[in-house]
Amino acid sequence: MIEKKTESADMFNGNQVDGERIISIVVPVFNENEGIDKFYGRVRDVVDSLKTLSYEIVFVDDGSNDGSYQKLIRLANSDSNIRVIKFSRNFGHQIAITAGIDMAAGDAVVVIDADLQDPPEIIIEFVKKWEEGYDVVYGIREKRKGESIMKLLSAGIFYRLLKLIIKFDIPLDAGDFRLMSKRAVEQFKSLREKDRFVRGLTSWIGFKQTGVYYSREKRFVGETKYSYSQMIKFAFDGITSFSNMPLKLATWLGYCTSFLAFMYMASVFVQKVLGYTVQGWATIMAGILFLGGIQLICLGIIGEYIGRIFNEVKQRPLYVIEEIYRSDSTGTRK
Ligand code: UDP
Ligand code: MG
Repeated sequence: MIEKKTESADMFNGNQVDGERIISIVVPVFNENEGIDKFYGRVRDVVDSLKTLSYEIVFVDDGSNDGSYQKLIRLANSDSNIRVIKFSRNFGHQIAITAGIDMAAGDAVVVIDADLQDPPEIIIEFVKKWEEGYDVVYGIREKRKGESIMKLLSAGIFYRLLKLIIKFDIPLDAGDFRLMSKRAVEQFKSLREKDRFVRGLTSWIGFKQTGVYYSREKRFVGETKYSYSQMIKFAFDGITSFSNMPLKLATWLGYCTSFLAFMYMASVFVQKVLGYTVQGWATIMAGILFLGGIQLICLGIIGEYIGRIFNEVKQRPLYVIEEIYRSDSTGTRK
């Protein structure tokens, strides 16, 4: 018999043998109906090959409307180590990952995309590093197949800029495909900020971290769910979550333009004393537009931070769960 349950991570014990360690695989899903079976097949092969670990798979359905949820329920009925968390609507990739980690009961927790861009086989390497004592093992994208030049270029510049301005160590070219130890997960759960940049948060935690190189594949089916505007918002979240640099930049822009304006005033004064006629219209227009532009940029930067403060003070929960599902059949694995 199948039943629906609402439960927290603590209540979950799946079909695990007592004392056996568990690896949790957290998968955000938004309209991935066509690819899920193939994804599950590959993940299942990987977890089955990890003989010393039991597994659970936590799918987070982030408001899909293409039947992904029904497909996940079918999978959960065939494998009682699967749990499906259904959001009440689409909350976004980073929030879906967070909910999955919140619910994961494992001694190690892996986050992986459902589109097979992150090859599940790399999890075996992650586990090796975890067993060597690392708390966070992230995948570094050595190659990225099937991405547009624009995306590659903007991501390349973004990660280098981010590394330059933040104080702790953040790996270049790493996404959210990573493994976290239990103590890293505990720390991660205490970071409840609203505009989330998960890969930055896991780096911020510290402990022992290392990377594993991999080649990021093309999407198996479907298309990216990130629009350009979402990518820009995401990049801003990354920077504003960890640095006040843009605010400082605004101040410096102010200093520099004031200095230029002062120099120009001095030159105007000299021209006046020497009796040159000042023509002026073009210069005044250029000056006004230039200063207006700088002021708007600075206001925008301040606005970005105020918007984020606004999001924090509302103190809304990060997500709303409609349903948590797992089958209660009791077959053991293998
Ligand atoms: N995703 C999600 N919610 C969203 C957008 C994406 O849960 O609002 C999931 C998506 O199903 C996939 C992962 O997050 O498993 C990464 O998304 P996508 O492949 O679109 O991002 P990209 O790889 O292009 O950066
Ligand atoms: Mg993808």
